[in-house]
Amino acid sequence: MKKIVFAVAVLCIAVAIVLVFALRPASGPVLRVEPAGERDIVLEYGQTYEEAGAEAVAWEGLSKDRIVPVETEGTVDAQKVGTYMVRYRARYKDSVGTAYRRVRVVDTQAPVIQLSGGQDQYIRPGEPFVEEGYSAADNYDGDITAQVQVKQTDDAVIYTVTDSSGNVSVATRRLLPADTVAPVVTLKGDKRVVLAWGDGYPEPGFTAVDNCEGDVTSRVKVSGSVSIYRPGTYTLTYSVADAFGNVGSATREVVVKEWEPAPEGEANGNGKVIYLTFDDGPGPHTDRLLDILKAHDVKATFFVVDTKYISTVKRAAEEGHAVGIHTATHVFKDIYASEEAYFADLEQIRKQVETYTGTSPVLMRFPGGSSNTISKSNKGIMTRLAALVEEKGYTYFDWNVDSKDAGGATTPEEVLSNVIEGVGNKSHSVVLMHDIKSYTVDAVEWIIRWGKSCGYTFAVLTPDGPTCHHVINN
Ligand SMILES: [Zn+2]
Repeated sequence: MKKIVFAVAVLCIAVAIVLVFALRPASGPVLRVEPAGERDIVLEYGQTYEEAGAEAVAWEGLSKDRIVPVETEGTVDAQKVGTYMVRYRARYKDSVGTAYRRVRVVDTQAPVIQLSGGQDQYIRPGEPFVEEGYSAADNYDGDITAQVQVKQTDDAVIYTVTDSSGNVSVATRRLLPADTVAPVVTLKGDKRVVLAWGDGYPEPGFTAVDNCEGDVTSRVKVSGSVSIYRPGTYTLTYSVADAFGNVGSATREVVVKEWEPAPEGEANGNGKVIYLTFDDGPGPHTDRLLDILKAHDVKATFFVVDTKYISTVKRAAEEGHAVGIHTATHVFKDIYASEEAYFADLEQIRKQVETYTGTSPVLMRFPGGSSNTISKSNKGIMTRLAALVEEKGYTYFDWNVDSKDAGGATTPEEVLSNVIEGVGNKSHSVVLMHDIKSYTVDAVEWIIRWGKSCGYTFAVLTPDGPTCHHVINN
């Protein structure tokens, strides 16, 4: 037993001796290499790596420390993600000392996902989601759109992308239910408005409210119109669309009644007379005008020029209208050049009328009226002509109501309202119109209906009836 204990003790001592020899300091100089700064560096991709170098110290026995040169091996590419080892090596006599620095270039920035068309998409019930497009860009990998994973859920589309360094980005597009409810248009006043003939139509108004946008009254468009002189039923449509294209609308019916017959007695005459006069014809609408006048048993006065329709004066005369003359050519600069020129021209149209009607006309009207200033270059011509025509047996007429159909009015409604306004309370109204205008002929029926309903009498101008002369300006 004692022998075993002794043997173990001897073995232990032997091992101890071996260890002491093995670990004893090496002979010769000692070299220590130490990198400056951190031994382990993490660098974000794109940053600059600055080599800090290393320091080597050598000593021998009890000698003083000695700084020795260090060689640096290995480079760091900060533009490329990876792990780089930089080796520092120094030599002194037979000794070589080495140290390492580990530099890791990393990318920790996540990619950026862009959603075209915004984060929210509105979808009507039953309609499929339509991708409006997306893109993914990474600071390190560049365009990685192709790597985007798209996943659709009931109420969202989720876009996920991972860059080569494992950074993950997620973008979400919300799928919102679209508005399918149209705005509601509410009419003020009645949905059916009945107007007396010729009454104005004041719009009673309306409001419009949308479930999403609130008050949209200002966006309501009204289509349709009311013609207060034409009996009939008109429909006005009030409509407005919301941002989703839902259109809300309401309609109003406007009835314009037939004119009311004038009360008995008044219909037999209010003592006031309207003389409808038509200049510058005959024209392509004159026959239609004669039809209208005939249907209403109204006689009018024509101041004709020498047109290709001149033969129409035959019918006009036969049907009881007064056919006066207006000059053959109506060319101001020619007719007002001299008295001779004027009468030569007048004679031409006089003959034409006589040819077709069998009667030499006695009524006439000056082109531009006796008050015209177009003739001014021939000083005093109108004063002279006004006297001369009377001397020659003509009676000339101007007008005291202008339908403005030769300037300003271009619709039957405008002609009609100009006439109604012009007649006003006059006892004798000589109304200037032009039967070469289609809209004037359209207006005539309404003028007659209005006039009769108000008790006016329609008559032709005659040499012994009331005259209507302007103040002569030349
Ligand atoms: Zn004229």
